[in-house]
Amino acid sequence: MRNPHAGVPFDTSDAEIAAALEDVSIPTLLLSCVHMSGDPSLLDGPLRPAGLFLNEVQGYMSEEDKAAARALALDIIRDYRDRGCPEPGPVDPALLKRMMEWLVCTEVPDEYVPMMVEEMELDGRDARATGFESDAQSRADFPVVIVGCGQSGLLAAIRLREAGIPFTVIEKNAGVGGTWWENTYPGARVDVGNHFYCYSFEPDDHWTEFFAQQPELQSYFQGVMERHRITEHVRFNTTVHSATWDEAAGTWSVLTSTADGTQTTLHARAVISAVGQLNAPHVPEFPGAERFSGPAFHTARWQHDVDLTGRRVALIGAGATGFQVAPAIADTVKSLTIFQRTAQWMFPNPNYHAAVGPGVRWALRHLPFYGRWYRFLIFWPGCDTGLAAAKVDPDWPDQQRAVSAANDLARMMFTEWIRSQVGDDTDLLDKVIPDYPATGKRTLQDNGSWLRTLTRDNVELVRTPIDHIEPDAVVTGDGIAHPAEILVYATGFRVNDMLSSVKVYGRDGVELHEAWGGRPAAHLGITIPGFPNFFCLYGPGTNLASGGSLIFHSECEVRYVMGCLDHLLATGHRAMEPRQESYDDWYARSQAELATLVWSQPSIKHSFYKDDAGLVHSLSPWRLVDYWTWTRRPDPEDFVFS
Ligand code: NAP
Repeated sequence: MRNPHAGVPFDTSDAEIAAALEDVSIPTLLLSCVHMSGDPSLLDGPLRPAGLFLNEVQGYMSEEDKAAARALALDIIRDYRDRGCPEPGPVDPALLKRMMEWLVCTEVPDEYVPMMVEEMELDGRDARATGFESDAQSRADFPVVIVGCGQSGLLAAIRLREAGIPFTVIEKNAGVGGTWWENTYPGARVDVGNHFYCYSFEPDDHWTEFFAQQPELQSYFQGVMERHRITEHVRFNTTVHSATWDEAAGTWSVLTSTADGTQTTLHARAVISAVGQLNAPHVPEFPGAERFSGPAFHTARWQHDVDLTGRRVALIGAGATGFQVAPAIADTVKSLTIFQRTAQWMFPNPNYHAAVGPGVRWALRHLPFYGRWYRFLIFWPGCDTGLAAAKVDPDWPDQQRAVSAANDLARMMFTEWIRSQVGDDTDLLDKVIPDYPATGKRTLQDNGSWLRTLTRDNVELVRTPIDHIEPDAVVTGDGIAHPAEILVYATGFRVNDMLSSVKVYGRDGVELHEAWGGRPAAHLGITIPGFPNFFCLYGPGTNLASGGSLIFHSECEVRYVMGCLDHLLATGHRAMEPRQESYDDWYARSQAELATLVWSQPSIKHSFYKDDAGLVHSLSPWRLVDYWTWTRRPDPEDFVFS
């Protein structure tokens, strides 16, 4: 069978090909040429990228070199087309590593190569699909309930279906997508490059923007759900209230209800929680808020029937969400007052709102492995290099400003980017340059739209804390009343209140939150002692603050869960849970590691990464390559079986 990533025969004219090549990433194109021509000597030639940093996809090549590369590529593509687009031969591992290093202009250590090969699927094989040791009948007799149909729940459903394990997905919303279903606020878009932010086995050539907006993301997940025939397994508009472990039966009872009050209990041998971390809205309790006379809503509950045209809008909170909302509505409203408690670090990304041109789309569809190398190209800069800037050097002198030399360098670069846009407006500059170390909170992608918005006549950025809210105004601590007709809360989510929507009763009726005692944790972010056959996706300690993508992490987690189920069934056991020592050791090591990273430092005063006591539970402190390695297959020694 033809490798689905290898391109398909085409009859595009020379002129159309030449036009398409004007759009594409030239280093990526040249690697596709190696596949088409079968000639690796291209890698030794003078046409090569000069560097890679963040979102640079042209490798800082000169215009002359890019033009020469296009001419060279046109000859190779023409020949490939005229030969009927034969499937390129396999590439040996040494050459693959050389190609990786050539593209990203740095050494790609050996430990990363298999992970990247798997991520790119150059052989067309979905390597993260599980092979099984258990027999098909035992799998068919093992029903599973998945709670949530966002990106991780959908992924688990796909893998269970492939395994022949019967499953039901319970989803409180009316459709698939989780966060991409709920967050319909104006300007909502992903800030991880979409050609990487999609399942490795379901790449999409059709993204209309490099960082797609919410409707396109939701429809991607819809399409995946339909293609993998998951829809009929999902109960939409259904809420899970509790899951209770029955030790005698070795099953979970999952209590659900629908909007009309109908309650149903499902029985399952395992439960997979895919409830996400960013979905319980956090709305601060400002005095007087209940007396506000106009519409007031959280960004994740956007009221589309409220017309903002010509109205005075107060936007409270400006993290990743507010940063997207403000530029999207500033044109429409009469006035926009943005209340930002803490300034945000941001870095330049000219592609952030850019459309994917027709040339790139043509290349994605027709040039063998163009899309796969492009995936690698945008994954690599966010793959563990960010951790270096987050690592605390205890000897670094001014910890309020930066936590290390690398971190200080990031501060300087990000500050320069902000300064270059604000110019001489020192009042604005004082408000927008953060007073804490770079990358201490989630760093935002920026194409200039945020600061441009702040300089509009109808927009004001207020950094003075809110004192209270009156029926027609937000009043700040300096006594100024800022008139408002509509209140939008872009105030984030109750991230530290993990799995808050579900009561989970494990062995001896112990409830999960009681067991956690305010310190949510799971071994590898997935399993918890006392909760047999209960698996978390995007659980405690798995959020990513320094790069990567949650889809990548979910693929690691789901492979591990599938490995657990297979091992359980192959060994004839009924239930498994992590050893207390494995869990305790994981928690202690994770906390110790987190203490060495910027996110936990006292210089970061407000951040959803921290709980009220200043502890970090949601984030992973680990390199992606380590997490990938640890989750490839479960170690039975970590578990107690019954
Ligand atoms: P967030 O980053 O937690 O931002 C919440 C905002 O509300 C901050 O400005 C925060 O101020 C402010 N706030 C919270 N409580 C407040 C209080 N009591 N008084 C005054 N201000 C208060 O939440 P978010 O913007 O919704 O983003 C959350 C996460 O969602 C992101 O980090 C990201 O992972 C994800 N997200 C991603 C995208 C994307 O991919 N493009 C877009 C949106 C969200 P402080 O900063 O001072 O706490």
